[in-house]
Amino acid sequence: MEMGLRNRVAIVAGASQGIGRATAEAFAAEGCRVAICARNAASLKAAAEAITKQHGVEVLDQAVDVTDASAVHGFVEAVINKFGSVDICVTNAGGPPAKGFMAASLEDWRKAVDANFLSAVYFAREVIPHMQRKHWGRIITITSITTKQPVADLVLSNAVRTSVVGLVKSLANEFGKDGILVNNVGPGFTATDRLKQLAKTRAQNSGQKEEEIFAGWAADAPLKRVGEPREVADAIVWLASERASYITGQTLLVDGGAYKGL
Ligand code: NAD
Repeated sequence: MEMGLRNRVAIVAGASQGIGRATAEAFAAEGCRVAICARNAASLKAAAEAITKQHGVEVLDQAVDVTDASAVHGFVEAVINKFGSVDICVTNAGGPPAKGFMAASLEDWRKAVDANFLSAVYFAREVIPHMQRKHWGRIITITSITTKQPVADLVLSNAVRTSVVGLVKSLANEFGKDGILVNNVGPGFTATDRLKQLAKTRAQNSGQKEEEIFAGWAADAPLKRVGEPREVADAIVWLASERASYITGQTLLVDGGAYKGL
């Protein structure tokens, strides 16, 4: 399938590892010029070099904390300076810690709002004017299956990520006339460092082994396995492509069927 993405400029946040990195690789494989950020400059540089080596595309890497609005501003400015425009923006950051309601402190709540909601606001504010000028743009937020179905012990994610869905739908409504499509992708359990951390926390709290916790997640999905980062990345690339040109304001779960609703 021809995706029509060659030479598009794609920003991917939180891209030094996991789903973000797989997404940056998938855009590079389609011939996009890619700009990636994360907090750790060294691991980000290593990711950028590996992507350029494998796909022969230009990659801009910049150490950015996405909870810092001025750092996000500086990053998007650097992308415009290097590539002249931005076509696609994928917002992403690490997920909040696994906690029940009373265990989560007010500081945990503030951090979750900063990383998992406001970061998407910061990026949207920066990229929309550039997309309006071209009358073409894609904003895709990476959230979680928790936007549709709460997960036990992930109260911070369950509560904060639904605000992203409200943002996505609002942006889709307001900027559709400008050719900007805005969608949300919710991964189910996906084999990344984040999931290993989650398994470790669950194991400590429950006395179960980490392998048993992974097996439980796999059993919960009709496909009987956890997902691979590349599988989430492919859905994001498709949503960004010309092949998804009449889809906006939607949440697409990439969860092996784990969501139990209709
Ligand atoms: P991960 O922890 O493996 O990777 C997160 C990436 O974001 C890393 O590159 C990290 O350096 C970067 N990052 C974290 N905080 C940042 C910040 N403040 N500023 C800039 N960069 C930052 O996570 P993942 O498994 O790839 O998941 C990506 C997102 O999807 C997370 O929000 C996660 O909660 C969510 N999610 C993951 C799963 C899963 O099973 N892996 C399931 C549902 C939702």
